[in-house]
Formats: sequence, C-alpha cells, structure tokens
Amino acid sequence: MHGTEAVGESDALIDARRYLEICNACRYCEGYCAVFPAMEQRREFSAGDVSYLANLCHGCKGCFYSCQFAPPHEWNLNLPRVFAELRDDSYAEHAWPAALGGLYRRNGVVLAAAMAGAIALVLIVAMILSGSGMFGAHAVRPGAFYEVIPFPAMMWTGIVTLGWAVLAGVISTVKFWRASGAPSAALLDVGSWKQATSDAVKLTYLDGDGHGCNEATEAYTQTRRHLHHAMAGGFVLCLAATAVATVFHHLLGWVAPYAIYSPPVLLGLVGGVLLLAGTAGLFAIKLRADPVPSVKRLLGAEVAIVLLLACIALSGLLLLALRGTGAMGTLLAVHLGFVLALFVTLPYSKMMHAPFRFLALLRNAYEAKAH
Ligand code: SF4
Ligand code: SF4
Repeated sequence: MHGTEAVGESDALIDARRYLEICNACRYCEGYCAVFPAMEQRREFSAGDVSYLANLCHGCKGCFYSCQFAPPHEWNLNLPRVFAELRDDSYAEHAWPAALGGLYRRNGVVLAAAMAGAIALVLIVAMILSGSGMFGAHAVRPGAFYEVIPFPAMMWTGIVTLGWAVLAGVISTVKFWRASGAPSAALLDVGSWKQATSDAVKLTYLDGDGHGCNEATEAYTQTRRHLHHAMAGGFVLCLAATAVATVFHHLLGWVAPYAIYSPPVLLGLVGGVLLLAGTAGLFAIKLRADPVPSVKRLLGAEVAIVLLLACIALSGLLLLALRGTGAMGTLLAVHLGFVLALFVTLPYSKMMHAPFRFLALLRNAYEAKAH
C-alpha cells in the first residue's frame, strides 16, 4: 500500500494519485493550468490534496490530448476523467444534510422530477388562487402578475427555497474547505482573494496555454470559455434585474410589471438572451464531447442543469414578449416553476462547482504566493 493510501479509498482516488505521481515526474503540461504547478509543490498526495486539485481542474482536456501515456497507452493516464469523478464525489461527500448527498448520483433524474413537480405545483396554486383569471388577457399594468399569483405567495416561496439553498450550499462549501486541509490563513489574504476572483471571472484555466480547450477532438477552441462567460454573465444580469425590481417594489413602491425600457426589464432582457445563448451552446458542446476524457454517468446531471437554466431564460423571455396576452398567467407560473426547481436543487446540482472551484482557486493563489 502507498504511503498516503488508506483502506476504503475509491478507485478514482487511487488512480488519481498514480497519475499525479507520473505527471510530477513528467511535467510536460505545467503551463496548461494551475493544477500542474500546484501538484509540483507536493511529493505525496493526501485525499484532501487530491480533492483540492480535482476542483482546481477546469476540465479543459488539454493535458489528455497532449499526453503520451493517455489511452490506448497501457498506463491509461486520464486526468480530466478521474478529476471529474472526484469532483462529483466531493459534492456528494460534503452535501448538507449528508443524507441528500445521494442526489448527486441521480442528478439528471432528480432535476427533471423537481422541474416537473415545481411547475405543476405553481400552476395548481395559481389556478386555485386566480381561478379563470389565469387564462384571461391581462393589460400590462402594475399588479397584473399578482392577480395570477399573489405577491406574498411569490415572495415567501422564493425566500424560503432560496434561503434553504444558500444555507445548504454554504455549509457544504465550508465542509469541503475543511476536509481538503486548506490553510485558514488563505481566507484572510486579500491578494489571494483578488487573484482568485480574477481567475474565476476571466476563466483563466479554460484558456489552456492561451489556445483554449479541447472538446470533441484535439483541435483547440475558445468556444466553451466564451459560452461559459455568456451563461454566467446572463445569470448575473438576471439576478441584478431581480435585485433592482426588489428595490423598486419595496423602497419606491413601484409595482411590476415594468415598462420595457426600465432597468429591471432591460437587465432581464439582456441577461435572458445571454443565458439562453450560453446554455444552448454548452448543451450542443456536451452532446458532441469526446467520451474518453469524460464520465458518462455524469452527463445527465451536466445536461440537466444547463437545460434548466435554458428553460428559465426562455420562459422569462416569452413572458416578457407575451405579458399582455392570455398566455401571461401560464407563462408566469411555468417561469416561476423553473426558478423554483433551480432553487430547490441548487445545493445538490452541478452548480456547486462554482463555490468549490472558487475556494480551490483561492487556495491555489495563496500557495503560489507562499511558495
Ligand atoms: S498529463 Fe501526461 S504529458 Fe501531461 S504532465 Fe502528465 S504524464 Fe506528462
Ligand atoms: S483537464 Fe485542463 S484544467 Fe484539468 S488538469 Fe488537465 S490541463 Fe489542467
């Protein structure tokens, strides 16, 4: 048994440790991403170290296509694949409550069921509360949305589900940070926060060595990085639209729906288009991705979260376009159903890669400075 190997370790962890030791001797890929310089600072790899490196990996696949020891070589070295498995293991292992960690294993099914259930629930509640008014034509005037779903029902459902998601997500993230053995001092280092934020916003490590990622072939492309930027930017703009609308409603007393040229609608419109474009493109990329450096069982979860975000964007844009028609009530209920599904599944979905990776980037920035 290896010095850092413990009884009960997964095959993925044992494989990863073997690969890392080979890479540490080879070092051919050290310019590709942060993982290689970070591994070179270590001679042995604890389970926490490997989990940290797996979450630092952005899955660009550059090291797979460059590696002389990748399949069909007998050493079968495949870092993107084993890191993807270990990332998924880390989400499940640190989920809170722990009993819900198993949801990661069936994430595609769970997400689809949550979507269908949430939409059905919102539609039924809306029909009970508004009766036939849900399907009538609505003038675009203040309070029209709340004739379909009363404001308190909408607000409290959002607060409770999002509040739960944030609580569970924060606890999971803290568990990951502690279990990976990260130095506490990194949390207080302003320079490391700046560097990690810059790396996260720019997606530095989806850039390979400046040439981008591999997707289905050995050819490099910046497409995935650009699409991820569109998706994340669109998501942030949609959040900003909701925040501005909240200020309008609670501080200024201006009630939705708002005029097309108002800040919440413009932010939501641009955000929705970017979110839809980014998710549609990423969905297409996932479908034609090379299966060898990927994990087939994780495809359902990855596709499901992208589709859920696309459904939120599309239903929001349709609601904006048709809010003066008889379709408004149904579209509002469907849109809120998709949003509700995202909130409920957030801490048990691929979305957890965002805080885990950010903390890995923070640790990397701190260790790189200290080294
Ligand atoms: S992935 Fe292959 S080529 Fe790259 S450092 Fe590791 S062993 Fe060397
Ligand atoms: S897949 Fe990309 S990000 Fe991950 S270890 Fe290889 S080169 Fe680095």
